[in-house]
This record gives sequence, C-alpha cells and structure tokens, in this order.
Amino acid sequence: MEYEGRNIVHFDLDTFFVSVERLRDSNLKGKPVIIGGLSDRGVVASCSYEARKYGVHSAMPMKMARNLCGDAMVIRGDMELYSRYSKTVTDIIAEASPVYEKASVDEHYIDISGMDRFFGCMKWTSELRDKIIRETGLPISFGLSVNKTVSKIATGEAKPNGKLHVASQQVIPFLSPLSIRKIPMIGDKTYHLLRSMGIDTIKTLRMIPMEMMEKVLGKNGIVIWKKSNGIDNTPVKPYSEQKSISTERTFEKDTINITYLKELLVTMVEKLAYELRKKEKLTSCITVKIRYSNFDTHTLQKHIPYTSFDHVLLETAKELFDRLYQRRMLIRLIGVKFSSLIPGVQQLNMFEDTPEMVRLYLTLDTLRNRFGRKSVRRAVGLSRNNGEMLEEFIQPAYNVEKDVKEHTNETSTEKRLWKIIRPDYLTGNRRW
Ligand SMILES: [Mg+2]
Repeated sequence: MEYEGRNIVHFDLDTFFVSVERLRDSNLKGKPVIIGGLSDRGVVASCSYEARKYGVHSAMPMKMARNLCGDAMVIRGDMELYSRYSKTVTDIIAEASPVYEKASVDEHYIDISGMDRFFGCMKWTSELRDKIIRETGLPISFGLSVNKTVSKIATGEAKPNGKLHVASQQVIPFLSPLSIRKIPMIGDKTYHLLRSMGIDTIKTLRMIPMEMMEKVLGKNGIVIWKKSNGIDNTPVKPYSEQKSISTERTFEKDTINITYLKELLVTMVEKLAYELRKKEKLTSCITVKIRYSNFDTHTLQKHIPYTSFDHVLLETAKELFDRLYQRRMLIRLIGVKFSSLIPGVQQLNMFEDTPEMVRLYLTLDTLRNRFGRKSVRRAVGLSRNNGEMLEEFIQPAYNVEKDVKEHTNETSTEKRLWKIIRPDYLTGNRRW
C-alpha cells in the first residue's frame, strides 16, 4: 500500500468539557460527571469515563442518564469557559505547527509531512502534547499516522490520555480487527445496515467489493470502503483558510432611519446564522461595520463563545451596532461578518434546558431549506407609544402549520411559535 509519505497528527482533548470542569473544581476528579442541560428534558453533552461505565453517553436524554448513574455530578455546560480553553489549545498548536486545522472545539489535525527528516515525528508530537498538558492542565490524546482517517481512529484507540503511532506498514494490521464503528463516517444508521449484512470488523468490510458498497450506500459507500483500506487523501485544511462569512449592504440613498437599519441588521445576522448552521459551522467572532456618508468607515468586533444561534448572535450584533453608531450622521453601508469559524453543530444546543428552542431552529431551518431563506423570518415590532423596539417574534411568511406539526408535534402554529420563542427571546434583553 502506498501512502506517499504523509505524516498527519490528530489531537483530541479527552472528555473536554468534563476536564475543564475538573480544573475548576478538583472534587470532580475520579467521579462520574455529566455535563448538559439540567432539567429532565435536557441532553447529555459530555460525560466522564466514570459515567460511561454506567452506560451514559453523549446525546442521551438527561433523565435516562440520571437513572443509569444516580451518583453522577450533573453540571450545566459553560460554553464561554470551554471556548477560552479551546482557543488556548489552538494557540499552542498554532505556535508550533507548520499546517494545522481546527476540526472542532476540541480537535485539531496537523500536517507534519517531511518533518521526520529533521526530527522524529513521534518525538515532536509528544513534546507538543506535553506542552499542551503542562500549560492548560487538560488531558489530551493523539494519533499519528499516514492520513486523517487513520490518525483519528488511532487517537480513539489511544484514549484516555494516551498516544499512538501507526506507521504506514502497520495501517492494515492496525485497522483489521477494529469494529467498523471506529470509522469516523459510520453513524448508527450505516452501522446497523452494515451489521445486518454481516459486516462487523474493518477486515470484513475490506473484503466486500467496492462496487457493492457503492450499490448499498452510494458515493459514501466508496469513501467508507477506501477508509477501511486506510485510504484518505483529504488534506489538512489550514485554519487561516477556514474562512469567515460576511454580508453587507450599500444603500442607494444614505439613511439615518435607525429602525430600518436595525431591521436590516437582524435580517443580515439571520441570513448568516442560517448559513452557518447549514454548513455545520460555529463562529466565535462577530464584526459589525458601518460607513458614514462621508466614507468614514468604522468596524467593531467581539469574541464570543462558539455558537450558531441567532438569538446569541443578534444580541452581540446589536450591541456592537449601538456602540458603533455614535454620530447621528447618514449611513451609506452596514455589514456583518462572522469569523473564527470551526466545524460544529450539536454540542452547543445541548446546554439549553429547552429542547423546544433547538427544535424551533431545526423546524425553521427545514422550512428555509424547503421554501427558501425568506420563507420564515424574525419580525421586529414597534411599540405604539414611543417608537422603541420592544418585541421580536418569528413571523411565518406563509402557512407553516403542517410543517411545524411534522417537526414539533405542535398544533396551532403561530401561537405555538410564539410560546416556544417567548421564554428565551422575550425575557432577556428585549430592548436595544
Ligand atoms: Mg474530544
């Protein structure tokens, strides 16, 4: 098997959220710990190895987790804290590495191909791991191998708090006895499908003709089959190229209509946040830009915990706009940018105690996917007395009753949407 001499490292922090909580409270060490929404309707976002022994795992309903492991310390997630630690780890990796990719809040890939001529790859990576542990106090594991897939699987085998080198000639013997479940692309559905075909280990999967895999799983079948053969040519995407997304609007006629400007800002943030979720990304930096009619341009940015939720992003965008728009002058352009993007989707919403909120987002996005981005949007209302903006609500642009029923099992659409949105939207910072 040819591997064109690549050396790829995969770093993964062990039970990241739990480890951060243990830095904050050393009493949690050695005990079963579960992080997630606190109510019975919450979901497990992360759990310690001690809790896993009882059968607790991520994405499990909190109620079930508590039943399985009554002694567990249950903690609500603190994404702000985790985001800070995540960035510290990224900074340490960035300082040392030629090319690295941030694959999620707790995972990085580093391409160190060619380095072996100068240093031993294993020695270099071990030293970097020691440095991360020394400077953050967080346990972290890595796999070092010929490509991203094999390295990631190797990390999984190295955990907890370990390291594993799989050299090119060891790739096949390393993969063969492992369960197909260890292949990162294989989720529950695919796993059960392949199991029903009698495929259990990666070795068995490798013996299935590629054409058959394609027949059963389409293009993904080919990718999975290649992975089972230790083949994965995907490059480590440099973090600097994990682009930002942005939007801006230049007005045909300069404006000072603050209501209009803020409505536009809301629309822009919504559009970008929808794009984020569609691409399964999270942002941790918002920039708002305004240009006055005399072409003076001002930008202001703020770092926030990783998120893709409108209600979080909107609040920050509005705050930035208010701080920016100091001169009562005509405005020519406004713009919004989300940067420091990383892949990620589910972990954040798991801290929400209200699954309705998460479900609402899913429903709205499903409607948008089906009927276009503008099919549902947030409406901004004005109070009659003083023209201040008081309320925001979701306004369906057409009859969404059926779809909402499908996705949320709710009955009377608009009223329900109102009710769903109210707790989070209207009790917080309603005025801006
Ligand atoms: Mg991890």
